[in-house]
Parts: sequence; C-alpha cells; structure tokens
Amino acid sequence: MAVEYICKICRGHLKVKTSIVLAASKLHSSTRGLIFLNPEIGNYTTTTHPSFEIKEGEEYIYTCPICHSQLNSTKYKHLVRIIMIDENGKEFDIYFSGIAGEKCTYKISEDKVEEKTGPDVKHYDKYFDVPDEYKKYL
Ligand SMILES: [Zn+2]
Repeated sequence: MAVEYICKICRGHLKVKTSIVLAASKLHSSTRGLIFLNPEIGNYTTTTHPSFEIKEGEEYIYTCPICHSQLNSTKYKHLVRIIMIDENGKEFDIYFSGIAGEKCTYKISEDKVEEKTGPDVKHYDKYFDVPDEYKKYL
C-alpha cells in the first residue's frame, strides 16, 4: 500500500499519481489556481500553471479541490493541515506552511511530533511540544 494523502474534512484522496493536488488562493486577493505539491516529506518542489505564479513570502489559503473546505489550520496560524496515511494504514497530521517559500513540515501523531523537517521549523516549534532530542537543531 502506498502512502496516501487525504483531505481532513471529506477524506477524499488528494494525491493523484505523483503529486498532492490542492487549490490555492492568495490571501486578500482573487488570484487562485491549482498547485501540485511533492508528496515526499522535505521536498518543497511545487508546480502550478504558468498563469498562476506563487509569490514567495505571500500567504496562501489552501482548499480541498474535492469539497472546497479550507485546509489552513485554525489552531496553528500560518500552517496548513492534511492527513497522511502510511504504508501500514496509520494516520498522521501533516502540517506545512501556508506562506510561500517557507520550508517546514511536521508529521504529527496523537499530538506527538513524529517527524519534522525544513529550515523554517524554528518559526513554528512554539506550537508543538518538541521532544528534547530535537532541541539541538533549534
Ligand atoms: Zn475535502
């Protein structure tokens, strides 16, 4: 069984072939389009249509392309949450930054940080109870 990503609201599949497909719109703007994210944690390559240019430093609202629910976290400002199901069927909350260009990903299970990656995690560690073993990277 491959790793899957699903919407936290409708549980519809967001990973199609080799990308996670989301709808994104720039905060306080009508600029919107589809964005393809790399499902590999720590890979921040994104793909969009040339008519929809992602601007670094701008915040985007991500929505599920199936149910149109907003995926930005209401609990953690500037982070976006989707659900990952691993090879064993175990579910994790995946958080990534809604601010374009910021590289950080958290993989959370039952409020415990299982994995985190990216140079910008330092901005968000305050949201999570970071185990001591990670503190040396702060
Ligand atoms: Zn959905």
